[in-house]
Amino acid sequence: MVLGVDEAKRWLTRVNDEIHHNKGYLTNLDQAIGDGDHGINMARGFNEVQKKLTVSTYADLGGLCKDIGMTLLSKVGGASGPLYGTVFLKMSGVLKGCETASIDELTAALDAGLKGIEERGKAKPGDKTMIDVWQPFIQYLQKNGESIDWDKVIILVKEKTEFTKEMEAKKGRAAYLGKRSIGHIDPGAASSNILLTELAYVFKGEVTS
Ligand code: ADP
Ligand code: MG
Repeated sequence: MVLGVDEAKRWLTRVNDEIHHNKGYLTNLDQAIGDGDHGINMARGFNEVQKKLTVSTYADLGGLCKDIGMTLLSKVGGASGPLYGTVFLKMSGVLKGCETASIDELTAALDAGLKGIEERGKAKPGDKTMIDVWQPFIQYLQKNGESIDWDKVIILVKEKTEFTKEMEAKKGRAAYLGKRSIGHIDPGAASSNILLTELAYVFKGEVTS
């Protein structure tokens, strides 16, 4: 399967729905090790994304990603807004002029997104951030190319999200807690889990509305 503008819109619509379903959960996670705004930030940002998707037509994936990146950058706020905004802006660079993307092209775009998070936030794998979900996800896609098992992807990102519970935060607000951050899932890892799981569902063909 390739990803086209319609599939990308379906993906982001699903993400918006799931962010709203999980708004309280994300907020609770951020209350434990941050300032409690992550669910609110993400819901506000994806509301705006949804509005854009409803009224806009895009000639290619690059245009769509750019619009979404700018929206997340300006509307989400907190540390995660610029990070998620950067993901989509970096993706737009790779997907410029592409009406569709193959798995390899999409992987390259997502990898550019991950590198954008790393450059902007200066965090590494193991620092208890969203990178701890993105990095193994990208690695799996790079290793498996056209023979990706999307059910495995869903399990992988869930496990990696849960594994952030064991980590001590080294970046972001949670780092102020030091060892007291251990025992809680990272909120940005949890929202990334939603984003990447919903992408997997689109590729599994389970999202057809
Ligand atoms: P804030 O911490 O400013 O309140 P949010 O609550 O919206 O912002 O987002 C917090 C999430 O952002 C964290 O759970 C973490 O995953 C992510 N994050 C914070 N700082 C960094 C960083 N330097 N690099 C990568 N991700 C980060
Ligand atoms: Mg917060």
